[in-house]
Amino acid sequence: CGIIGIVSHEPVAGRLVDALKRLEYRGYDSAGVATLEDGVLTRRRAEGKLVNLQRRLEGDPLSGTIGIGHTRWATHGAATEANAHPHMTGKLAIVHNGIIENYRELRAELEADGAVFESQTDTETVAHLVTREQKRGLAPKEAVQAVLGRLEGAFSLGFLFDGEESLLIGARRGSPLAVGEGEGEMFLGSDAIALSPFTDTVRYLEEGDMAVLRHATIEIFDEHGNPVIRPIRRSTGKA
Ligand code: GLU
Repeated sequence: CGIIGIVSHEPVAGRLVDALKRLEYRGYDSAGVATLEDGVLTRRRAEGKLVNLQRRLEGDPLSGTIGIGHTRWATHGAATEANAHPHMTGKLAIVHNGIIENYRELRAELEADGAVFESQTDTETVAHLVTREQKRGLAPKEAVQAVLGRLEGAFSLGFLFDGEESLLIGARRGSPLAVGEGEGEMFLGSDAIALSPFTDTVRYLEEGDMAVLRHATIEIFDEHGNPVIRPIRRSTGKA
């Protein structure tokens, strides 16, 4: 299971899938990618091996220049296309590795509030929680920050937002996540191996960190929301 995200000026779908291949060693049962197509979130998902996702993309390409990708190791909900990530609401797309332990109570609360779920995953609760904060008027970063404190369990998360061509958000607790700096493009990934062909300037997020990636900047915040700088880990070479 793995996560990748890229904010670029070039189409990203091919590189998202390549990065997912470098994360295959972790094991997975399904995969998916989402990009912004003229500002609109669009996804392709497939059960089974990455080649199935690749075929899906060949038949129906994605041309967006910002995107997220995921390989799933199902913990909640069968390994079907409907349960494959990214999960989407009208406002965002999300990828998640790990487990949201309190997803049952969160889902019940959200459904009582009118949210309509499309999957059996624990992950989709996070999508609806953040969307609800956005509907209450919070900007994407503040909405994610407001929700992280409600989550129990282990997670690394990646978010893409409708209409936001230069915004990728990552967060982690109990599950690894790294950010990488390129030239006018930035990367989010489960580890430095996923990012190695793109950049050798990689920082690992620490427990509770959130990262905000735009074309020219990466900002990292600790669990209290304070800006922090994490050390650069230069990789030893290209994978
Ligand atoms: N718990 C999530 C799910 O079952 C994420 C699993 C993973 O780490 O890939 O969809």
